[in-house]
Amino acid sequence: MTMPHNDVAAFHDLLRRITTASTTANGTPRPARILALCGAGLSAASGLATFRGSTASLWHTRDPIKLATPEAFTADPGLVWRFYAYRRHTALNVQPNAGHRALAALAKGLPEGSFLCLTQNVDGLSPRANHPPESLRKLHGSLFDLRCVNVDRKTRGRPRCDYVVQDDFSDPLCPALSTAATGVDETAAASGAELPHIPVNELPKCPKCHGLLRPGVVWFGEALDPMLMVGIGKWVAADTIDLMLVIGTSAEVYPAAGYIEEARDAGAVVATINLDAESPAGLEALKPGDFAFGGSAADLLPELLEPVIGMANWK
Ligand SMILES: [Zn+2]
Repeated sequence: MTMPHNDVAAFHDLLRRITTASTTANGTPRPARILALCGAGLSAASGLATFRGSTASLWHTRDPIKLATPEAFTADPGLVWRFYAYRRHTALNVQPNAGHRALAALAKGLPEGSFLCLTQNVDGLSPRANHPPESLRKLHGSLFDLRCVNVDRKTRGRPRCDYVVQDDFSDPLCPALSTAATGVDETAAASGAELPHIPVNELPKCPKCHGLLRPGVVWFGEALDPMLMVGIGKWVAADTIDLMLVIGTSAEVYPAAGYIEEARDAGAVVATINLDAESPAGLEALKPGDFAFGGSAADLLPELLEPVIGMANWK
């Protein structure tokens, strides 16, 4: 039964209304402003198990604190790189789904600057779905971004190295990581056995300063990129927001969760697309006029965004 909160036709009406050129008080065209916040549920239909709470990875017997912190990387960069080489390989072996493609189509179908998509996912699936980078903000970084460790460290008399590369999908990244990438020595990790040590000089190197490269993800105990946060804050504060899409995330973690309230304060209707969006707790959190669609983002997004992205076979 269609309820006000999951009425697709009513959602389509809203989307048509806000994306049809409206004008400001002084007569200049005012494009719609749409903010999206994406989490692991967006990638679930691709078959990628989330790292936390999953036993799908052979690395699950290892304590994440010993693999995903700056301290772990300093102590044994080879071990941490093995873990990330495996995660890169695993993520490359699944494909972006219809949800990623529908969001990429939304970004391409709206005027530049009117859609901002914040993702908590590090799996590279939105970039691989050709989501335009101008409208995508990777809050937690990406398994496929690499940056120089010298960024965090004063080098003797020289400026810090600012080398960063985004969306490097090579697999393996270097010969020393080839067995890690294919999972051969992860069987050893699962059994708790010692893995052969990889010397630092065999790990990925910065082409600019020859320092060590690290995975461009935000580790436990690290802050989100301040420049990224400032940019998002400016976009959010620039004008009213028409629609906030909350996709595949329970949005309980700050600062991500704070964007929903900020968007609401800026006038947005909030639409949640998540497996448990229509659970009793999900419905209780709804404000009047909000939408909640319980289901897979891969199934729902192509249908919901149809007034902008058109009818197509998104599968
Ligand atoms: Zn460097």
